[in-house]
Amino acid sequence: MVLAQLGGSISRAIQQMSNATIIDEKALNECLNEITRALLQADVQFKLVKDMQTNIKKIVNLDDLAAGHNKRRIIQQAIFNELCKMLDPGKPSFTPKKGKTSVVMFVGLQGSGKTTTCTKYAYYHQKKGWKPALVCADTFRAGAFDQLKQNATKAKIPFYGSYMESDPVKIAEEGVERFKKENCDLIIVDTSGRHKQEAALFEEMRQVSEATKPDLVIFVMDSSIGQAAFDQAQAFKQSVSVGAVIITKMDGHARGGGALSAVAATKSPVIFIGTGEHMDEFEVFDVKPFVSRLLGMGDLSGFMDKIQEVVPMDQQPELLQMLSEGTFTLRIMYEQFQNLLKMGPIGQVFSMLPGFSSELMPKGREKESQAKIKRYMTMMDSMTNEGKWQLDSTNPKLMNESRVMRIARGSGRPVRDVMEMLDEYKRLAKVWSKMKGLKIPKKGEMSALSRNMNA
Ligand code: GDP
Repeated sequence: MVLAQLGGSISRAIQQMSNATIIDEKALNECLNEITRALLQADVQFKLVKDMQTNIKKIVNLDDLAAGHNKRRIIQQAIFNELCKMLDPGKPSFTPKKGKTSVVMFVGLQGSGKTTTCTKYAYYHQKKGWKPALVCADTFRAGAFDQLKQNATKAKIPFYGSYMESDPVKIAEEGVERFKKENCDLIIVDTSGRHKQEAALFEEMRQVSEATKPDLVIFVMDSSIGQAAFDQAQAFKQSVSVGAVIITKMDGHARGGGALSAVAATKSPVIFIGTGEHMDEFEVFDVKPFVSRLLGMGDLSGFMDKIQEVVPMDQQPELLQMLSEGTFTLRIMYEQFQNLLKMGPIGQVFSMLPGFSSELMPKGREKESQAKIKRYMTMMDSMTNEGKWQLDSTNPKLMNESRVMRIARGSGRPVRDVMEMLDEYKRLAKVWSKMKGLKIPKKGEMSALSRNMNA
């Protein structure tokens, strides 16, 4: 994902600035120019980038900052806040309520991933106990109904469409009516897309919207469309009242900056992102954790939520206690590996974890990384024979040569692999040691943890 490169470039620019002996106007300007370049390369609209630069300069007034101030921290925080501001339109989108009927209409260009996203959205809610239904009002693209039908059947979600009827407005109306009678609480209407923005598409969309009176219109956008994002999003917004955006194909080679432009054009928040072709490759989008992931700061709140799906938080007090004390043992690493392997789409989970993402788990090489984790675990398994204390120790120096040899022999792996595993442990321990002093969150307080991380 090229967006990760953007994060890398920004982090590097901040790092370079902090390496400067004095942080003066020149160092700040160089840092901001570097960030500007990175954002433009990622296809963020020029005006947005310019505004961001001006705002940061306004906030960070170096002359007024007394000597004792941590300038690097203040600048980093200003950059973080400005990136968040770009992605946050300032008002939340309409949120459907479980048990109360809502109609959600999907719009977007053909190929943007609209039909796939409709099912992902339905499936996501179904897993949370909703009663969703899908209506295919795309009569333009041959095969659209078949595709929706196939996806819906796989996910066991009721659907409505027609091979005979060519009027999308009629189908949409009938479908919504039927599912209202069946007490579905989330009725999702998929509309036609076209290759280009054209008058007929917008007129049809407007009519479907008038007939079904959606509570929410979601604009689906392919993250790879680059600079065209702003105009495209704006054109849709002018025809129907877009209330939220979903960005698809964030797993591909997208430059990703279009997401920021789409928010600016529609003044609507991004609510989900698509990260693959499968039904569960779909993530809730939250601005702060996203930006903190972008800048390589990890997304602990997302991770904690995910980990709770596998291991309930009340069974993890020991882990949190140890982390808050700054203790990261091999046993913690082992247990987290175990959880990660259970959690599925492993790439998704990894990118949330500080230190785990790019190094241990390069994008697109999930299988290899999974194999690596399993290998590490086999070696750690053989360590338990060496005495339990070794896994609970935080002092790798205790791991002398003869022990390393024994572990290698015990697990049937070369010594070099054991060394690699221990190096990985040391690297992670360093990243996680930064969490010392964290307030241990109670259930439902996960976002406090991520705020702590970002502070
Ligand atoms: P529509 O014409 O807008 O309805 O688009 P489709 O739902 O048919 O999707 C077009 C193509 O994009 C299909 O091959 C999908 O599998 C693919 N697609 C959709 N969302 C994603 C995503 O998040 N990641 C990836 N890699 N592919 C996606």
